[in-house]
Amino acid sequence: MTQRDTHRTIALTDQRNTCLPLPITLQNASLPLGSNGQLLDTRGRALRDLRISVTDRCNFRCNYCMPKEIFDKDHVYLKHADLLSFEEITRLASIFVAQGVQKIRLTGGEPLLRKNIERLIEQLANLRTPEGKALDLTLTTNGSLLARKARDLKSAGLQRVTVSLDGLNDAVFRQMNDVDFPVADVLHGIDAAREAGLGPIKINMVVKRGTNEAEILPMAQRFKGSGMVLRFIEYMDVGATNSWRMHEVMPSCEVVQLIQSVLPLVQLEASQPGETAERWGYADALGRHDSAAGEIGVISSVTQAFCSSCNRARLSTEGQLYLCLFAQQGYDLRSLVRKPSSDAELANTIGNIWQGRTDRYSELRSALPQDAGAPTRRIEMSYIGG
Ligand code: SAM
Ligand code: SF4
Ligand code: SF4
Repeated sequence: MTQRDTHRTIALTDQRNTCLPLPITLQNASLPLGSNGQLLDTRGRALRDLRISVTDRCNFRCNYCMPKEIFDKDHVYLKHADLLSFEEITRLASIFVAQGVQKIRLTGGEPLLRKNIERLIEQLANLRTPEGKALDLTLTTNGSLLARKARDLKSAGLQRVTVSLDGLNDAVFRQMNDVDFPVADVLHGIDAAREAGLGPIKINMVVKRGTNEAEILPMAQRFKGSGMVLRFIEYMDVGATNSWRMHEVMPSCEVVQLIQSVLPLVQLEASQPGETAERWGYADALGRHDSAAGEIGVISSVTQAFCSSCNRARLSTEGQLYLCLFAQQGYDLRSLVRKPSSDAELANTIGNIWQGRTDRYSELRSALPQDAGAPTRRIEMSYIGG
């Protein structure tokens, strides 16, 4: 068997089609809630953040996410009929919002590849929390289509975007996206997003040791004082196709040290509970945070588990609910939405699922040997979104 054949035995399709049994739900039963009326899981974590994947397709082949050898021309993507429609997504989202979700992030695959995504954004932008507040509505994109779409996204009601950018050096960037996409086009996209008012913009850089660590300082220098927050993300063992190894992870503490050696930083407090990024502000000559220079964030998904405050649920492209980025299976909400189920039934099912949540993969991983590879049966990031 060749290396390529070995990869091919990874049952992506099987994983997408198996799901956990839905909890039995009594239509009018009311769910026990936390003292402040919040829906809590078994570890007391509230449901606050919903990530919705709108497509499993992407025009990039980042090797940490959709390696070319696996996601090649023979890869079978979901059929259009299998995807949740915009109406189904909005109905489910409205129920999640009634259950406590305050922030929705659209993701993928590449979310801007989903046809008429602006229509979905319009629908989601009309949702209100039980307190009558608009949602924090955002989207993560590789930026390749932003220059063309930024204004329409803003008019549709999108508030802000996060753009993934793994380096400024064109050769490194082309190597990382593996489809020879020029960095200049993403930078134009970022400019267009800024001009359209899609801010504050966050820039996500996945750091892979041996590939793009030389880009850390140029990226920090470029975005310092720009009003955008650059976040460095540890390369994660998500999915089962990226051949992840611990020695390719550059711990966030090393990233901070490297930047500190040239651009002094001071640590800042988390701006909200459950925030995944540790915040570091650029310091002035007196060692205080210089707010005009801005800040960076580091997301230490591998070296510092933040499961204890994880308040995220993920809805896959075909309507499976995942309670953890590293889950092996999801709950099939599409089957419920597509048969005549009342909103109360859906709400109770979602509530029961969340209340039974025990997930804490990253905490458990910390106990594994340093260079243990990733388990092979896991769902792909491009399917449930980052
Ligand atoms: N295509 C869009 C993009 O790249 O921004 C949205 C989907 S992508 C799966 C969401 C985020 O996940 C991106 O910021 C990407 O860099 C990150 N990501 C994907 N695979 C990762 C990995 N193995 N480790 C850390 N971050 C990863
Ligand atoms: Fe596509 Fe985003 Fe994955 Fe890169 S990280 S392959 S852009 S989905
Ligand atoms: Fe949340 Fe799972 Fe990540 Fe822990 S490992 S922070 S539970 S998504």
